[in-house]
Amino acid sequence: MSFSAAAIAERVRSRQATAVEVATAALDAIARTEPKVHAYLEVFSQRALADAKAIDDRIARGEGSTLPLAGVPVALKDNICLAWGKTTCGSRMLENYHSPFTATAAQALIDAGAVVIGKTNLDEFGMGSTTENSAFGPTFNPWDPARIPGGSSGGSAAAVAASTVPIALGSDTGGSIRQPASHCGVVGIKPTYGRVSRYGLVAYASSLDQVGVLAATVEDAALALSIIAGHDPADSTSAQRTREDFRRELATPIPHLVIGVPRQARSPANDPAVSASLEATINQLSRHGAVIVDVDLPMTDYGIAAYYIVAPAEASSNLARFDGVRYGRRAQLGKGASLEELYTRSRAEGLGPEVKRRIMLGTHVLSSGYYDAYYATALKVRRRIKADFDAAFSLGGCHAILMPAAPTPAFTVGARSDPLSMYLEDVYTVGVNLAGLPAICVPAPRDAAFSSLPVGMQLVGPAWSESSLLRIARTLEPTGGFPRPH
Ligand code: GLN
Repeated sequence: MSFSAAAIAERVRSRQATAVEVATAALDAIARTEPKVHAYLEVFSQRALADAKAIDDRIARGEGSTLPLAGVPVALKDNICLAWGKTTCGSRMLENYHSPFTATAAQALIDAGAVVIGKTNLDEFGMGSTTENSAFGPTFNPWDPARIPGGSSGGSAAAVAASTVPIALGSDTGGSIRQPASHCGVVGIKPTYGRVSRYGLVAYASSLDQVGVLAATVEDAALALSIIAGHDPADSTSAQRTREDFRRELATPIPHLVIGVPRQARSPANDPAVSASLEATINQLSRHGAVIVDVDLPMTDYGIAAYYIVAPAEASSNLARFDGVRYGRRAQLGKGASLEELYTRSRAEGLGPEVKRRIMLGTHVLSSGYYDAYYATALKVRRRIKADFDAAFSLGGCHAILMPAAPTPAFTVGARSDPLSMYLEDVYTVGVNLAGLPAICVPAPRDAAFSSLPVGMQLVGPAWSESSLLRIARTLEPTGGFPRPH
């Protein structure tokens, strides 16, 4: 099976392969890799074959031209609602939650002919950078199963890296698409805030969350993004914009390309493998004729502090609905127990330690007496971070900013045991969410002297510049495609 969504859809539409054959191949790949990788929380073996058969029938009836993803197997991060199977968010709290509806972004893929193969693992409610915070056990990196795949969309990134699906949806609140893409050697795009509907994405931090794509190639990322983007009346924060065909636009080069490299990206705190990949990417872009300019993002170091106030504050409110009554697992209590006991026990039993930590952090920074010192200050920092990016794009005159997606390659399972060192993993990603900007992460050239693991670089652009980001990313893709794990 050719491993690109574009190629699969083409072959299925022209009846050189059937969607059933493709789904079968994806299920076989899952059976081979899952014992080592554990990317999936649920696999829809029966349903996927039936859905694939329905696609084949539609193609036989001549409807193929309306199916840009005809028969393409896809996976969904398990915080994206689907009207069948479970939507657990990696949490005990939702271990038996069946969503009555399908998220708009997922429905768009299905309407385009994609076949949902399964739901992927994540850090509980998207809170984490490794998938170790999943209540159902971690996912392992297909490049080296002793290592984490990144997170929180680690299952989606690993599912693509393990060649089980060419496209998976993830969500990115503070780096959860780009950082696992970096660690798993795949392409990950976090769209501009408002580009893709959040309807049916279980909310973590609503002002930061975006649904996006993990894919094996830049073309597939462009194809999938074109399909999931667009206004949705069910999400008032989704923007009214005319549809763009990002895949077709890939062919148009950007004249006089200028790439900004922030002083802060060349941090001595970077792992040597990351520094080497950054310089190699700069060289590669220069060889393609790009002009490289220095830019400054002076607020970079405050991004983590601001993010870990804003995100928990929003999470503490969004997660209040999981109380065992409105939503979520209800604790079994004896007769005569009070309502307060029911709430307390249900939340104590259903939520994991990192989620509890964030709820407490968020409740604290919003509480009377601390609100100004923490939450209001974080919002000011957020505005200054946005201003830094705006200045780099306008004064620096660059089309995109290049920086690592993570300061290190994938580390071993269990290597980051204290929360603070885990939060520092997000230094290059959270600012982008605070500013609402689009960014794409692609596997970068590696120096075998430093690491045999993939290292990703991200390109951050002004709002609505996804087309440019994808076109620049395309120039970084080797002719034979990005390397894949054995
Ligand atoms: N690692 C970050 C966090 O733990 C980002 C998570 C995300 O983007 N969902 O919050």
